[in-house]
Amino acid sequence: MKKDERIKIIIKRLEEIYPETPIPLDHQNGFTLLVAVVLSAQSTDKKVNELTKELFKVAPSAEKMYKLGENKIYNYIKQLGLAKTKAKNTHNLSKIIYEKFNNIVPNTFQELESLPGVGHKTASVVMSQVFGVPSFPVDTHIHRLSQRWGLTSGKNVIQTEKDLKRLFPKKLWNKLHLQIIFYGREYCSARGCNGTICNLCKELYPNRKKAIICIKA
Ligand code: SF4
Repeated sequence: MKKDERIKIIIKRLEEIYPETPIPLDHQNGFTLLVAVVLSAQSTDKKVNELTKELFKVAPSAEKMYKLGENKIYNYIKQLGLAKTKAKNTHNLSKIIYEKFNNIVPNTFQELESLPGVGHKTASVVMSQVFGVPSFPVDTHIHRLSQRWGLTSGKNVIQTEKDLKRLFPKKLWNKLHLQIIFYGREYCSARGCNGTICNLCKELYPNRKKAIICIKA
């Protein structure tokens, strides 16, 4: 099957399985979504949501988060991995947004990626989900599934993002990245699959006999 046929099937099946794509990280505004994404690195969304419920009650803006202080931020999120670094980054990025950006989350990749703890993936999530700018944040699920569905060689996440942007229509990027993450979480774990379990892989690769070796993100 040619790649463009596989693309059509992937779009169709994901739309059937996930017609709605609610943002998995709870937030009240662009700032709290940015912080939630920063906190979610190497942690589950469920745990982040549990802890930010209280944190965002007291600090729903950059100004309030900055004034809360690093130690208090840490106390709210200390159950997360890398909590000290995350508390420091959250405090520092809040200070910059408050002082330099007038308490408003900036809306360019360059400005977002200049903030502490904000890499290209986090900036892409914010650009896509807060500002509606077509973006394709590539996380570990997307990186793995893109290889298993034959959409990229998986050299690195930068290449995977380029390949996905080339293959999928731009107007679908913001929804598709969430649909692929949902599929990855529900069906496609890092281990334990020979690439022939799910209907989607069976449909894309009816003659596949063994697992695809994936390059990690
Ligand atoms: S068959 Fe395996 S590789 Fe393919 S989507 Fe399902 S779990 Fe992932």
